[in-house]
Amino acid sequence: MNDNADGHAFLIVLAGPTAVGKGTVAACVREHHPDIWISVSVTTRAPRPGEIDGVHYKFVSDAEFDAMVAADELLEWAVVHRAARYGTPRRPVEDQLAAGRPALLEIDLQGARQVRERMPDALFCFLAPPDWDELVRRLVGRGTEGEPERDRRLRTARVEMAAEAEFDVTIVNTDVRDACEELVGLFSSRPESRPR
Ligand code: 5GP
Repeated sequence: MNDNADGHAFLIVLAGPTAVGKGTVAACVREHHPDIWISVSVTTRAPRPGEIDGVHYKFVSDAEFDAMVAADELLEWAVVHRAARYGTPRRPVEDQLAAGRPALLEIDLQGARQVRERMPDALFCFLAPPDWDELVRRLVGRGTEGEPERDRRLRTARVEMAAEAEFDVTIVNTDVRDACEELVGLFSSRPESRPR
């Protein structure tokens, strides 16, 4: 994709309910479309096995995160699942856009709302499950959380589903590869024909 020449480079913010598969779709973009830059978030949570510092996340201490917030180095940040803080470093996003390169953020809904305030020209894309039952299956199937936490996340997911109306476009994540290609296709859509 040569967005610089086309003038189509812009920012897409991908958000959606918990367990819908945002991370998997972003991983698909990373693998198959290396020309699209994906923001590396900072987080205060501990790395999971296989996660590489600076690739999947930049893992920071609470004090480091506080310092980034104080210095206004984050475009947005949020406490996710009451567990840890996550944020998008502002400067790399601005650099990408200034260089005319397509940029993608994969963040939670609270973060997406903050980006909407600061970068209203971005395209906000809601990743939806095929239906509610499938979202429940994905959340339960993950098996990474205990029952009380799972129930809490399900309640959160219900509320998050209602946020779809705030978004410019919805992609239904039935098949990860299809959802990935649909998302990437949005980067080459003409500004005037973009869903808004
Ligand atoms: P996980 O800990 O499973 O990698 O991610 C948990 C949640 O944090 C996901 O919903 C993901 O979208 C969200 N997340 C990841 N990075 C960011 C970020 O920079 N900002 C915000 N607001 N949410 C993020």
